[in-house]
Amino acid sequence: MEKILQQIINSNKKYTLDGQVASYIPELRNANSEDLGICVIDMNNSMYSAGDCDKKFTIQSISKTIVLAMALMDNEWDYVFSKVGMEPSGDPFNSIMKLETNDTKKPCNPMINAGAIVTTSLIKGNTLQEKEDRMLAFFRKLAKNDTLQINESVYKSEKLTGDRNRAMGYLLKNDGYIEANVEETLDLYFKQCSIEVTVKDLARIGLLFSNYGIDIETGKRIISEEICRMVKTFMITCGMYDASGEFALKVGIPAKSGVGGGIMASVPRKIGIGVYGPALDKKGNSIGGLRVLKTLSKKLNLNIF
Ligand code: GLN
Repeated sequence: MEKILQQIINSNKKYTLDGQVASYIPELRNANSEDLGICVIDMNNSMYSAGDCDKKFTIQSISKTIVLAMALMDNEWDYVFSKVGMEPSGDPFNSIMKLETNDTKKPCNPMINAGAIVTTSLIKGNTLQEKEDRMLAFFRKLAKNDTLQINESVYKSEKLTGDRNRAMGYLLKNDGYIEANVEETLDLYFKQCSIEVTVKDLARIGLLFSNYGIDIETGKRIISEEICRMVKTFMITCGMYDASGEFALKVGIPAKSGVGGGIMASVPRKIGIGVYGPALDKKGNSIGGLRVLKTLSKKLNLNIF
């Protein structure tokens, strides 16, 4: 398996040259655009990796899957879906447009920024610190890695430059989709995006969703089956933003990308996958990562359809 992964990395490495690292968050410019790495964990808990598999990067939008799970655990589902929709937007991840043009002004889904800011606002806690502690503890539990940390420079960089997200936050508050304090919600959102992971962490979290919420090592339930199903459904319909349809057609695996260059993928009852390649395509998805997943899906016959 490791040989196959190494071959897949080698044959797709050239595509990283066609992309660019994200620059709208200044700190993300420091990534090495030619990095490419993968980790796979299967149902026997065997881990295989190749390429830049120990590099740390910020989780960015992949955090949206985890925070969605948390929002659904913290609140009544009907309440959550009264604040955020279930439909793909077909727009870029940071688009503000439908918050004005949709009849209801409700954010389309929890995988784009507008919807994710709403799910973040639904995390329970008496103080901002308590919410942050609960959030980080949940990420660590899912990744089975107590060393996960917020990358302070990325967090500060995002907070300083995140005015588009700030604009969405205030619109959402104005339209009744956020009830919590907007600045606190955004602060928490910037922090969740700035949590540092490796592809191994992503594969571990992906595997938990693959296994419908049961920790493969201990047999303990961490997330309910229904919530895992919802998260994976959003991954397949909205996880790659306005490239989700093409990805579903060509790769056919529930996956979620982030502008840090990570992609987490989850093949139901089979494997969890983490991929890293910070060079992005125009839609903000890892350009090498997409190729790696496409090749892997073909090679191991992972298409769920
Ligand atoms: N923190 C990023 C933002 O809000 C996350 C976007 C992404 O990964 N697509 O813009």
